Amino acid sequence: MLTSQLIKEAARRYGADLVGIGDIRHFAGTSPEHDPRLILPTARTVIGLAMRIPRGLNQVMQSGTQRYAANYLGIKTISEELTVLLLLKLSRLIENEGYEACPQRTCPNIRARDDDGTNPEVSENISLRHAVPVAPGKPAPDVLIDFTQAAVICGLGSPSWRGQLLTPAFGPFQRLAFIITNAPLETDEPFAASLCDQCGACAAACPGQAIGDKPTPVTYAGQTFSTRSYDRWQCSVYYRGAHRSNPLQPPDFLADHPDREAIRDGRYRFDETTAKAIYPKLNFLPQAQYGYVPCLCGRSCDQACYSHLKEKGLLEDRRAAALQAIREGVRP
Ligand code: SF4
Ligand code: SF4
Repeated sequence: MLTSQLIKEAARRYGADLVGIGDIRHFAGTSPEHDPRLILPTARTVIGLAMRIPRGLNQVMQSGTQRYAANYLGIKTISEELTVLLLLKLSRLIENEGYEACPQRTCPNIRARDDDGTNPEVSENISLRHAVPVAPGKPAPDVLIDFTQAAVICGLGSPSWRGQLLTPAFGPFQRLAFIITNAPLETDEPFAASLCDQCGACAAACPGQAIGDKPTPVTYAGQTFSTRSYDRWQCSVYYRGAHRSNPLQPPDFLADHPDREAIRDGRYRFDETTAKAIYPKLNFLPQAQYGYVPCLCGRSCDQACYSHLKEKGLLEDRRAAALQAIREGVRP
């Protein structure tokens, strides 16, 4: 018999570090372009999975001694390899028990119809802004679930100031995946608190000033979280290393550009057109497969947040969690 405990144990065996199960009813009110109930109309639960990014990869990125490994292993490999196998194995287990499982991984190169931003992690994004429903009453394809919303509903964590997920286990450093299923599993409660205390350290640490001060609250499962404006086009330029803190910039970087100093200082404001125009100049390290671009801002926002949460004692002691898991016979 398929139980939540069985699913959670299997997910950990297959590579997940965190597993939570959310009740599909908590998605009531979600816009059609992001509603998992329109992906699998018989859905009853959503299984949330988080895979940690090793702390060592973040430390070398923060110290500046390595820039490539964090992108290649911490982002590309977890999202494109570990996560995919985990999703397929877990889906197979669910379907062997007679239920349907619809795995959801990130679609890094696709922007939903209502999303005019970009994904700074990849070289190219295709916008679905011209997509139309194939029949009356249907949403425009592709329906892409909101990963932060789904993670909150599965009880994994709460949004950061810029709207990404923070968990008590890993702060901002994990990758996410989900399975929408009609299996009637016992569910976890949505994450009820906010780990973000609005300290502003993430915004202050961003070399490109991509995290603004405009309140953009979000409501998930009936709880409202305070988030701030996050300019993804601005982020995409500084993620790729436009700031002078990028040690890989050659001396003649943007030598002929009239706004060179403002750009290198992070004062210049980019939009879609100007960001795309400058990307070819931001070619400091090779892209990984699937168009993942190296992160040359060091994810300063997330590093600052992790340090802040740790200093405040808001992160779990993972050694204690690992020992407990071993005692229970589960892979830590
Ligand atoms: S620190 Fe880097 S990843 Fe974070 S918002 Fe700024 S540019 Fe983007
Ligand atoms: S650093 Fe972390 S806790 Fe502080 S405002 Fe940013 S997301 Fe919130």
